[in-house]
Amino acid sequence: MNCYYHPDRPAVGVCKHCQRGLCAEDAALVPSTTLRPGDDSLACKDRHENEVREMDQWMARNILQSKRIGSVYNRNAIFYFLVGAVFSIYGYSQLRFAGLQGLFLLIVGLFLLFAAGLNFFEGRKYK
Ligand SMILES: [Zn+2]
Ligand SMILES: [Zn+2]
Repeated sequence: MNCYYHPDRPAVGVCKHCQRGLCAEDAALVPSTTLRPGDDSLACKDRHENEVREMDQWMARNILQSKRIGSVYNRNAIFYFLVGAVFSIYGYSQLRFAGLQGLFLLIVGLFLLFAAGLNFFEGRKYK
């Protein structure tokens, strides 16, 4: 592949915005906003630098946001699981003495465990 702007020169990379080949002279390095080295992007110098920078920022925001949503689901899953386990065990142990009341606690506990499972699987979607 050759440079789009200089067809006689070989390209060193492609612009992230327009996917055109760029020679060393036309390629502008857009520093990564995700803080990961090696994520830097190339852009047409003085043409698509802003577009690529905005694209990177938008993508970094999306990654951050989905991580945050995922961890909220995971935290909910742990909370529901712990409370659900306590209710289930307590309800089950009271079943013989408290009858319906124990059964009620057991059902609430199982429902919370079910909610924990739902949150766990929902959280996995965001990884
Ligand atoms: Zn471009
Ligand atoms: Zn060029």
